[in-house]
Amino acid sequence: MSRLVVLGGAESGIGAAVLGKVKGFDVFLSDNGKIADKYLEMLRKWDIPFEQGGHTEELILNADEVVKSPGIPSSAPMVKLLEEKGINIISEIEFAGRYDSAKKICITGSNGKTTTTSLIYYLLKQAGLNVGLGGNIGASYAYQVATEKHDYYVLEISSFQLDNCQDFHPDIAIITNITPDHLDRYDYKMENYVRSKFRIIKNLSSEDCFIFDSDDAITVGHLSQIVTQAKMLPFTQKEGVQLEQGAFIKEDKMVVRYQKDECELYLEQLALGGKHNIYNSMAAALAAKASGIDNKIIRNSLETFQPIEHRLEPVLSVKGVLYINDSKATNVDSAWYALECQKSPVVWIAGGTDKGNDYSVLEDLVRDKVKALVCLGVDNAKLHDSFGDILGDKIVDAGSAEEAVRLASGFATDGDVVVLSPCCASFDLFKNYEDRGDKFKEAVRNL
Ligand code: ADP
Repeated sequence: MSRLVVLGGAESGIGAAVLGKVKGFDVFLSDNGKIADKYLEMLRKWDIPFEQGGHTEELILNADEVVKSPGIPSSAPMVKLLEEKGINIISEIEFAGRYDSAKKICITGSNGKTTTTSLIYYLLKQAGLNVGLGGNIGASYAYQVATEKHDYYVLEISSFQLDNCQDFHPDIAIITNITPDHLDRYDYKMENYVRSKFRIIKNLSSEDCFIFDSDDAITVGHLSQIVTQAKMLPFTQKEGVQLEQGAFIKEDKMVVRYQKDECELYLEQLALGGKHNIYNSMAAALAAKASGIDNKIIRNSLETFQPIEHRLEPVLSVKGVLYINDSKATNVDSAWYALECQKSPVVWIAGGTDKGNDYSVLEDLVRDKVKALVCLGVDNAKLHDSFGDILGDKIVDAGSAEEAVRLASGFATDGDVVVLSPCCASFDLFKNYEDRGDKFKEAVRNL
């Protein structure tokens, strides 16, 4: 019996362990930290041997193959040891892909992954297809492969999950865009991060599609250096650009061309607002066309999709001021889009754990749109340094979501918007971005 060791006991590791069990492997799961109760319960239910609070070398180095959870960096001592021993390390996605013959639409990128993935899932569902949603969203891909049967999968895949993919083969691959993020895990080298994202197209054949943002200089730059046989489906919002295959803007419409067919959608009728969501809608519409979905269903779905929580989510209007929760905007680029699409004066709430941010790209937008900034973080010095000259005394500090909302409401007048779009991770004051968004919403409701 082949021995499969899984490192990491959270969503992806547990899924891989269950799939290994179902496929008849001798499975062992090891977690350096504490495994959450709900996952302990699953391990017991599936009768999978495990350890937590440390790694036992003898139980791990006898593996035939190892599935590494995406949260474990390749610099971890146990990973180094496995590499020294020549034991193959794969990701949960790679493992599950071996047992799945469904059509796979896979989405990666720096921003817009969850939105694009959810849009495509919704489109395929509306078309009546038997489709699973996985990767970074919901139940892990491996767990679904172990316990369900789908004809299609829509998978959100992070660069960490791609790092240990070898033969994984999507039918449609999407890179939403590439901007600096998580560089700490890539030796602070942008090239490493870009290369890791591009692993998503490594195994595409001439039957498969690659959907990408041709306005994104980093994506296009890297594409010019590699060879792929895949059908290229770019999307662009550049004025006057029309594509033979792909998606582009024509007057007040988005045009989607695939093979000999074309679908047109009025921009004004798209359910999700903002320039960034036009990109996401273009990517989703292209994936839908390439999956053979009817134009009417594409139009209807992109017009009726409901915004996802914590992503430019309108919360409530209080005294004529609309409060928007964009807590998921954890880097500068995503906050740029959040500010860019606002039509009213903005009271902006930002701050948190800085990932090496360069705020200079936001200066023009802040000058044009932002009337005050509430800094919601433990250390706000960089925000003060970056925007002090523009906003003067209209920058204040808050130590909790409640205080931030109270201070923001003091700056806002009828017709303004208050936007929580932090540019930063949330771990200094909150459990995660969901917790930050939830506390923000609660504070707004209590106003
Ligand atoms: P991801 O899953 O890649 O983190 P999400 O779809 O969750 O992305 O969106 C996170 C935030 O990123 C949103 O709140 C929005 O501010 C911003 N965003 C979404 N789509 C894009 C895009 N195509 N380009 C730039 N920023 C985007």
